[in-house]
Amino acid sequence: TEQTLVLIKPDGVQRGVIGEVISRIERKGLTLAALELRTVTTEIASEHYAEHAERPFFGSLLEFITSGPVVALVVEGPRAIAAFRQLAGGTDPVEKATPGTIRGDFGLETQFNLVHGSDSPESAAREIGLWFPSLNS
Ligand code: ATP
Repeated sequence: TEQTLVLIKPDGVQRGVIGEVISRIERKGLTLAALELRTVTTEIASEHYAEHAERPFFGSLLEFITSGPVVALVVEGPRAIAAFRQLAGGTDPVEKATPGTIRGDFGLETQFNLVHGSDSPESAAREIGLWFPSLNS
């Protein structure tokens, strides 16, 4: 079994799709190992998105992700990382995510794409350690 760090970003919380996203995760057969509603500090946000530090959208991404509460989850199951990324759909909700995915069904803009999911076992371990330091798996 595998774990992945999922975030329902501030736009997802504001749009009222927390239940919808969790429901899709559960319907897929994945389970929840941790769940918390939390407003993130700029410090945690910039560590989370460290790989994008040089990108032109980094500043606005930090501003967005700290703009309101997010739901942070540790999601577990066989191939959980790939399975959640399949549920989420591609980064651009219009050009990449297809209908039937979370981003494809609810998103319009790349920055406001509702959810995050770790992209590799290494990022999952790093991100779970960052968001849930007391969870040792
Ligand atoms: P995430 O890491 O959130 O799951 P991802 O892996 O699909 O998303 P990344 O390329 O890692 O996408 O980008 C991280 C996040 O930065 C995106 O989810 C999106 O919110 C934002 N982002 C990415 N590209 C752009 C862009 N060109 N303009 C604005 N925001 C962007």
